[in-house]
Order: sequence, then C-alpha cells, then structure tokens
Amino acid sequence: MSPAGKNKPQKKDSKASGPRLTPMLAQYLEIKSQHPGSLLLFRMGDFFETFFEDAQTLSKVAGVTLTSRDAKSEHPVPLAGVPHHAIDTYLTRLLRAGITVAICEQVEDPAKAQGLVKRAVVEVISPGTATAPELVDSPTGHFCLAWAPGSNQMDGWALLDASTGEFRCGQEQATLESLCQRHAVREVIVRESTEPSTLKQWQAAMPQMVINPVNDAWFHPAFARQTLLDHFEVANLTAFGLEDETRTPAAIAAGSVLRYLGSLILKKPEQVTTLRFSSRADRLILDEETLRNLEIFRTFRGETGEGTLIHHIDNTLTAMGRRLLELRLAEALTDLDQIALWHSGIDSALSDRPWREDLRVVLRSVGDLERLSARAASGRIGPLGLKHVGDSLAALHALQVLAPSNGHQKHPIASWLESVDSFHELATIIQQRIAEDAPATTRKPGFIATGVNADLDQCRTIAQDSKGFLAGLQLQEREQTGISTLKVGFNRVFGYYFEVTKKHLDKVPEHYQQKQTLVNACRFHTEELKQAETTILEAEEKADRLETEIFQEMLTLVTSHLANIHAACLKVARVDLMLAFAETAEKNQYCRPVCDDGLVLNIQGGRHPVVEQLLEHDFIGNDTLADGADNQVLVLTGPNMGGKSTYLRQVALITLLAQAGSFVPAESAHIGITDRIFTRVGASDNLARGESTFYMEMSETANILHQMSRRSLVILDEIGRGTSTYDGLSLAWAITEFLNNPEGPRPRSIFATHYHQLTELENDLQGLVNLRLEVKEWEGKIIFLHSVKPGRSDKSYGIHVARLAGLPENVLSRAQEILSCLSSSDQRDLPSMRPVSSHPTAQPTIPDAGQLSLFRESQRDALDALNDLDLEKISPMDAFMWLAKIKKQLEK
Ligand code: ATP
Repeated sequence: MSPAGKNKPQKKDSKASGPRLTPMLAQYLEIKSQHPGSLLLFRMGDFFETFFEDAQTLSKVAGVTLTSRDAKSEHPVPLAGVPHHAIDTYLTRLLRAGITVAICEQVEDPAKAQGLVKRAVVEVISPGTATAPELVDSPTGHFCLAWAPGSNQMDGWALLDASTGEFRCGQEQATLESLCQRHAVREVIVRESTEPSTLKQWQAAMPQMVINPVNDAWFHPAFARQTLLDHFEVANLTAFGLEDETRTPAAIAAGSVLRYLGSLILKKPEQVTTLRFSSRADRLILDEETLRNLEIFRTFRGETGEGTLIHHIDNTLTAMGRRLLELRLAEALTDLDQIALWHSGIDSALSDRPWREDLRVVLRSVGDLERLSARAASGRIGPLGLKHVGDSLAALHALQVLAPSNGHQKHPIASWLESVDSFHELATIIQQRIAEDAPATTRKPGFIATGVNADLDQCRTIAQDSKGFLAGLQLQEREQTGISTLKVGFNRVFGYYFEVTKKHLDKVPEHYQQKQTLVNACRFHTEELKQAETTILEAEEKADRLETEIFQEMLTLVTSHLANIHAACLKVARVDLMLAFAETAEKNQYCRPVCDDGLVLNIQGGRHPVVEQLLEHDFIGNDTLADGADNQVLVLTGPNMGGKSTYLRQVALITLLAQAGSFVPAESAHIGITDRIFTRVGASDNLARGESTFYMEMSETANILHQMSRRSLVILDEIGRGTSTYDGLSLAWAITEFLNNPEGPRPRSIFATHYHQLTELENDLQGLVNLRLEVKEWEGKIIFLHSVKPGRSDKSYGIHVARLAGLPENVLSRAQEILSCLSSSDQRDLPSMRPVSSHPTAQPTIPDAGQLSLFRESQRDALDALNDLDLEKISPMDAFMWLAKIKKQLEK
C-alpha cells in the first residue's frame, strides 16, 4: 500500500488544544480531508507547501528541509516546501517511493482575490498513472493493473498505461504475481473490501509494488460497464469483445481502472482511445516461474540487462518496438499463419539489406510517438515535445513511402504501413509552426515559428522595434542629461525605468519621476518611457496569447487524430520488431524455423541465445528430438557443469523465440506449436510467503502436472533434489511415469537429473529416451565436452567440480573415500529400479533402501554375516557364541 495511505487528515490538530487554526490552515485541512491517501502539495505563492505528517514524509523521502510554522507556539506545525518550478524533481522522488501525490493549486488570481485565495486539487498522480517524461523515462511500459478476482476461478485483469493510452484486458486463471511479472506493472488496484490478510500476502510477495485498495463500487459490473460505455461513447461493448456476459470479469477490471485514472486526473483520459481483449487461447503465455527460470526479463538475481534474453536479442530502435518485444516474449503467438507471416517477413527483409537499412535509418527518427501523442492529448507537452510529434509523424510518412519500394509491395511491412492513415499533412503543420529551436516549455516565448501568423509577427516586430527605440532613448537621455552611466532597465514589478547612480542624482531633470530607491542608485520613468513600455508589454502580451492559441490549436488537432495515430504506432512497433528480429538473426546467425501443428520438436545444432553471447569459448550446438510418441520424455544425465541446465533452457528458448515470430539460434528447427512452456528449473525459496525450497519445488511441479496438455513443453531440472535421496528419487521416478502415462496428455518433456537410476526406465517405459552430456576423463581430470548424445551417464563428477570450485584438499579426499563406500553399498543395496509394470498407476518396487550409513569394511562384513544368519536354524547357545565372535571382530 502507498506509504501516503498512512497520511490521515490532521483534523485533530485543529482542535482548540492543537495548533492555531488560521483560515489558511482550515482550508488546507478541508482539502486534505478529501484526499486522505495522498500527499497534498499545497500551492502558496511560488511554493508548494506540505504540513504535518506530509511534511515529514516529504522531508524524509525527497530530502527537503523540515521546518515548522508557529515555531514558538505550544503547537508548532511541521512544514516543508518546494519551489513550484522545481516540482517535477520532487514529484519524481515521491512517486518512485510509491507515494500518491495530490496537487492543490491556487485557482484564482491572488491579486484579485478577496480574502483567502481559492484553492483546489487539480490533479492526483499515483505511481502507476504518471505520464511526465521524468517519471516514465524508459521505453518499457508503465502499467496500472486492475485485478478483479471472479467466480469459477476466472479472474479479470486490465492493464492501462496512462503515458501511452495502451489499454488491454483479459481474464484467466492466474495469480496477481504472475501478471505483475509478465508486464511492466507499477501499481495495482484492487477492491477496497479485499481481505487484509490477502493484501498482506500480496505485499509480502511483491514488496516494491504499490497495491491500492479502491472504491468497491468501481468494480460493480454495471458501474464498470457504464464507465466503459461513457468513455468510448458507444452503446455496447461488442467492438471490444466484451459484450458477452462470460467476459464480465475482464470488463469489470477494465471499467475500474479507467474510472480510477479519471478520478485522479479529474477529467476524461483522452489518451485512452481503444481497449483490446486478450484471449489466452491464441497466445503462448509464460507463467511467472517460467519467465524467471528462463531469465527472460530479469536474471535469477533480479537484475535487468546482461544475462537476460531480452537484452541479448533486442535490436529494436523505437520505444514502441521494444514494448512489443516485451509483450511477445511474455505472450508469444500460437496462430500458425501469424507466425509464418513473421518468419517470411524476416526472411525477405534479410534478403534485401539496403532496403532494410534504409527503413531502420528512418525508424531512428521515430520518437516514442505513442507516448508523445498521448501527452499532447492530455495537454502535458511542451513545444519541444510537440516538435518531436511532428518529426515522428514525418518519419512515419517516410516509412510509408519507403516500405513498398524495391519490389516489396507485398511485404508485411508495406501492408501494415499502407493500412494506416497518412499524417503527412499534420506533420507538415506541426513542423512548420513550431520554431526550429523550440524550448521545452511554453513559459519561454518564441516557440511558434515566424511566418505562421501575421499578427504574431507584427507584435514581435513592434516589441523588437520598441526595444530598439529604448536603446536609442538611452543614448539620447545620456546626451541630454550628461549622465554617461544612465541606463534603461526592466523588472516585473516596476516595468521599464532609467537607473541613475547616486553620484549623478543632481543631474536628473525635473520631468523624471522617481519610482524606486536602491542603496547606490535611483530609478525613474518619464512619459516617453511609459509609452514605450505600454507598447512593448502590450505587444508581448498579445504575442504570448497568440502563441498559446496556435499551440493549443495544434494540440487539439493531434487529439482529434489520436486514435489513428495510436493505430499507426502499433504498426510502427511491428515494423521495428520485424526488422530488429532480422537484425538479430543476421548478427547472431539464427535460422528460420518451421512451425506446424504437429507435435515434433526437432532442433539441429541448437544454441542457448544468451549463454552463447557470454562465453569466451565456442558454444557447442546440440540436437533435440522430442515428440509425443517414441521420443516423448527425454531423461538427461551428465556431470555437474556438463551443460544440462543450459540445454534444457535452450530448447525452451528456441521454442519461445520461434513462436514470438523470430528466427532461432540453431542450424535448423522444426517446431510443432506449443501451447504452454512449463519449467521447473533450480531451487528457489519464497521465504516472504514462508514457503520452503522443497515446498516451492513441489508446488510448481504440481502446477505443471495439473495444467500440462499434449501440446505443452515440460522442462524439469533436477526435480526432487530438495529432499532426502530416496524421497527425491521416488518422486522423480513417479513424476517421470506420470509424464509418460499412456492415458495422460504425454507432453514433450525433458527431465535433467542426477538420479542415474532413472535412466533404467528406458527399458520399460515406451517413449522414454536417455540422453547424456559427454565428458572425457584424462589424466585424472575431466573435460566437459558439452555435447548431448544418446545414452546414459552414470557419474556426476561432483567431486571434480568441487575441486574446480576450490574445496580444501582434505575435504575432497574424505569425500572421495565416502563416495567409494557409498557406491559399493549402493550397488549392493539398490536392486535395479524398475516399475512393476510400465503402467504408471502400478506400484513401482521401491527398493528397501536400508541404511546408507558410512560403515567401514569390517562393519559391513558384520552386517552381511548378520543378514546371512538363519535364525530358524540356530540354537540360543550358538547365537550367543556367534554374537561374541562378531563383537570381537568389530573390536579389532
Ligand atoms: P549442474 O548439474 O551442476 O547444475 P549443468 O549440467 O546444469 O550443471 P550448466 O549450468 O548448464 O551445467 O553449464 C555449466 C557451464 O557450461 C555453463 O555456464 C557454460 O559456461 C558451459 N556450457 C554449457 N553448455 C555449453 C555448450 N553447449 N557449449 C559450450 N559451453 C557450454
């Protein structure tokens, strides 16, 4: 929850026993009571002030000095303020700390106010709905997520990026965490009536996330629906795929988040021009574990950048392309036609490098048009930003012209760009009207170019001429008065004046009227100066007004085209991503995969797209053949450090990349479309939720076994290693059988394990194939060949790896001794591991493990003798004699 949520109104302090209640403080408390969950920035002249707890928060979070009002009184009021022109810096700090901020402005001219100036909150900004460039600086999405758990485990969700207007909703059986992991979510809104224990659980699982419980009414089906109808000005929700009653959970989430945004900005969110329903059926969605295990967006350590898939394959040039790449990796395609379109588009782009490069040169000039135009529509853009809109639209036009050239009329890129409006005219208008050296804000005049408006030009000329006139007047006055240091100056309070130093005051003529006295000088004006001042100020004022009008006209124009501009942005994103995929394919030597609706996964010379980039030596390509039949479960054994995890992940990543529409790191790849990729890789705790490593491992595996289908790809790495050897082995065995069950879905599965006994199942389970990672022993050392071959491996070489890792020599030699001991007892105690029948429902004969203790040779002999003893045939006396003999033997 937002830390500001703790900021309760300070009413109690206004009681007689509290601070002195001035009219201003009463006004503050009244406004604050309407925004209890936000930090209130209260405009007072040139400052935004905060009081009470808000002042303490501002001071702590943003490093602003904490002072107090009525410091000498019995009840001083904590106070902290920031200059209004520096507000963005402090806003950024507050929002990054997860605090929602209410901006309270003076809503009347203080000069004209009678008594207390009227003030009102003009906007509330929450961490997930911010739009300012300082806050939304990365190309990544900036989503506010509404989460509406529904009945029948069909939960509704909606994602709204206020900075771009991107608005999507859907419904599925998912967890809040998985949605946050899949998308760049900055804030979550949920029903106010959500159980506190549930909220606590979510917050514990995602400590950085701002989770805001909001008005339950916004989640009411009828209210949410009406919000959408009103916003889009439609009679029903058919156009958005939400009219059907079964889509109610998605509509609830969409309506509530839109209402939430409206309640913050206090006006219609103009940047939201459409809403898309995402159906799970036509996407390959990666769950949170798989996103984490495959290190798609973050490494295991939670870092972005190097080591993540996205970092190593991203060659997009626009923010829109980057966002589409993020979406594609979280939710790849399953539609064969779509996938084929992307692969053939990349193929032909690769065959015409000059065309591809020309397009990419133009793409570099397309700014974040989606965000810039959304900002323009909400009036939060300056002249420089609007200039970028114009330049981006011009670049879009250039792309439209270039795309069909060189015989590429039928290329998907040409078709996409042809299907969107041309904004050439709008681009020209903006480019012509905004001055070349446009400033960032409208506070600085001169942002409208010369030649756009005759009145404006005239005003500028008058102001300019009058300034020239003043320069002449200064000369003339110097001559007439004989005061060589007399100069013309200007300030906002007194306007234009003549300044004369005290030394020359005796020469000041009588018609000079004194305006101001300084320590060393006096300031005067004359009728002539006043007239020039009026002319200049009037001309400047009019010029300012005209510039603002022209600027506003352009914003209105952009707003009227916003829906179409956003539609065009989606196409630009595709163009950028397709060309980026081509670039990656060329740079990293990827091949074009063949995707079909079969179940065969056949990869030749496959590589791991990230590991191959990070290695100093060559990456060894490996083959994979998995299908739902003879090669259904691949059991992979091999030494530690042999490359098992790398191999498992590369198969998953190649499949994902192919379905994301990209080429893949392999010599060839044939991919039968996958509906889900499930991974259970490595051990991870979720201590925040009080779940142990082994519990996590089993709960993730349970999830896979319940949800997998015939079309799924299941990747399991060392399942069962988090518990005792025999528990782990038994579980791994049973899971393998379950995956292979002839009556089950039999998904394509790869299982890496150090339980070498599992490889014996190959003889009994149809469709189970053993693979091993090759290793060479040479002069007591091992050499990892990293090459995957058919067959089984019977050693893990763990002690060799421990030596490489620098374990002390005496620990290693003792480990070797224990290993020899264990291995021989292993062989004696463990009969071969075979299921009673290949049918998994049959009970496998789990061997009587006995005790794998570290007995010495003599002890084991004694045990063996005990084992061989036939108690039926031995007399009590012989038994006593036998025991005495054994005891003696052991004592030796
Ligand atoms: P463990 O059983 O100890 O978890 P592992 O068998 O899963 O080990 P990996 O972690 O996959 O081994 O690989 C270890 C290292 O071997 C990688 O970090 C990489 O440097 C290298 N490696 C793996 N596969 C290859 C390959 N195909 N070509 C070249 N180097 C590889």
